[in-house]
Amino acid sequence: AKAAGKSAYRTCTPALRESAVSRAELIADLRRAVDEDQLRLEFQPIVDLATGVVRSAEALVRWRHPRLGMLPPAKFLPLAEETGLILPIDRWVIHEACRAAATWRDRAPDATVAVNISAAHLRRPDLIATVTAASAGAGLAPRALTLELTESALIEGTDAVLDRLGQLRELGIGIAIDDFGTGYSSLSYLHRIPATELKIDRSFVARLGTDDDRAYATVEMVTRLAGAFDLAVVAEGVETECQHAAVIAIGCPRGQGYLYGRPDGPDTVGQNRP
Ligand code: C2E
Ligand code: CA
Ligand code: CA
Ligand code: CA
Repeated sequence: AKAAGKSAYRTCTPALRESAVSRAELIADLRRAVDEDQLRLEFQPIVDLATGVVRSAEALVRWRHPRLGMLPPAKFLPLAEETGLILPIDRWVIHEACRAAATWRDRAPDATVAVNISAAHLRRPDLIATVTAASAGAGLAPRALTLELTESALIEGTDAVLDRLGQLRELGIGIAIDDFGTGYSSLSYLHRIPATELKIDRSFVARLGTDDDRAYATVEMVTRLAGAFDLAVVAEGVETECQHAAVIAIGCPRGQGYLYGRPDGPDTVGQNRP
């Protein structure tokens, strides 16, 4: 009885009640965010490590909340996923990313755009129609677009999902496996998924240059694996010169991280930074 009383009390504490209200409020606000033009995209460069040339830019969503200010994806995407609001958000992101990529074509003609796709969206047959409409509408070649999918989204991939990925590939759209190494990677699934790219999770890159030999071995192994499968490979989250030197020594051809550029407006893609 004492325990029950305690937990009843706990659910009634002002702090929790407040957070329940603000959660409901946040959902209501999120429902309006797309229509009221409150979402923003930033783009982070993915560079060729040998030359520094920008190969691609990853679109990262932010929410300019009317009262709370600029919110990072971690503050609203989980809620968006729970409520299904991720679908209109994803659609907006895909359209906006294609539109932005068309604007940097004269500065960086070969720089592709990478868009994160939620697991919920991957399960939907209309993903292909959304993506093709967005790229065609922006006058962007399908080959200039890469979809980033996490291992966890892919692992629940049914035959229908694999089929869909195959169709996207046939259209020329790139398929990157995001945060590679953090999910349930099994080598057998690399044979089934028509991926074009692996993105090495930044948790491994972060430990390069420490005395963690396993992190080094992991980055090296994924780089070799990508080479053997003829996939592009990107080291994510490179922050220091030391990590940069390590990924170069390993032979990883591409990198992304604060060292090369923070996420920023589309106008910065392909621009020489001071
Ligand atoms: P992600 O796809 O792994 O994206 C990379 C995240 O790492 C971004 O965080 C980026 O700002 C951050 N990052 C890049 N370089 C560095 C670095 O050198 N050091 C550190 N510490 N961090 C770095 P962000 O923008 O907060 O996004 C977080 C996650 O939210 C993304 O992880 C992605 O899973 C999701 N996300 C972001 N935008 C979208 C979107 O438009 N749609 C969907 N469905 N998911 C998105
Ligand atoms: Ca990503
Ligand atoms: Ca990632
Ligand atoms: Ca991540």
